[in-house]
Amino acid sequence: MNTVVDHKRAEKIAFENNKLEKRLCRQVGQAIADFNMIEDGDKVMVCLSGGKDSYAMLDVLLKLRERAPIEFDIVAVNLDQKQPGFPEHVLPEYLTGLGVPFHIEEQDTYSIVTRVIPEGKTLCSLCSRLRRGILYRVATELGATKIALGHHRDDILGTFFLNMFYGGKLKGMPPKLVSDDGKHIVIRPLAYVKEDDLVRYAEVKQFPIIPCNLCGSQENLKRQEVKRWLNDWEKKYPGRIETMFNALTRVVPSHLMDAGLFDFKGLQATGEVDADGDIAFDEEPCAPPVGNQIRFFDMEE
Ligand code: SF4
Repeated sequence: MNTVVDHKRAEKIAFENNKLEKRLCRQVGQAIADFNMIEDGDKVMVCLSGGKDSYAMLDVLLKLRERAPIEFDIVAVNLDQKQPGFPEHVLPEYLTGLGVPFHIEEQDTYSIVTRVIPEGKTLCSLCSRLRRGILYRVATELGATKIALGHHRDDILGTFFLNMFYGGKLKGMPPKLVSDDGKHIVIRPLAYVKEDDLVRYAEVKQFPIIPCNLCGSQENLKRQEVKRWLNDWEKKYPGRIETMFNALTRVVPSHLMDAGLFDFKGLQATGEVDADGDIAFDEEPCAPPVGNQIRFFDMEE
């Protein structure tokens, strides 16, 4: 009796895991297609930190490459920042096992940051600046045409709220952008993927996670706070995160207040009926879900 129950349970788990993998592949494929992230002949430098997100990004990109209608190369890159206790054998062993070309860049940014930043202050902003510069240089040296980062849907939404609440700007984290040195295209293939799915995927795949707190610095407190708000809203109103995230893809400049984006001064009545025009005094209906359904990779959930 127990064997039958165990078998059914194992089947259910395998089914759910398979569904999760397909969902990740579909969402990453969709993001790549929607933003034309990867093109024929690209060499994609996949930045691996040793955290769950970047492992998942590499794993899914390798799967998608097998069935993509285009050819592109992947090179995995890790920056060993010489933090105390960094297990430097983990990534080379993992990547060798996968047979993926990789490069480990050793740069002791840890000593620089701890020397320059006074004790008790957060190290992250200088650390990220240094890391960014090094990764751009490595991308040039490796001849990479795209730099892939493992930020996901919840990072993007969190950044949007951080910028709004503390920076006074409607500004998120773009899925594709030109690097600040102007020389590279940075992409975020996990842009549509929710963090909970990445947590589960890391468990399913048993990625050899390297803890992210080796440097002893804490995640930005404001970011933690925003994360808590978002999770609380989601608990209270399930689906709210998805709705807010979708809002980032449906911006209506004529209904905001940035005169640089919309010519309010020059606005004139046209005398013509506009089916998409404003319904100033009516209540807005809820918008339908987004997604242009272009399939870059042939993946069904
Ligand atoms: S948590 Fe540590 S390694 Fe990560 S950005 Fe901050 S200082 Fe750098």
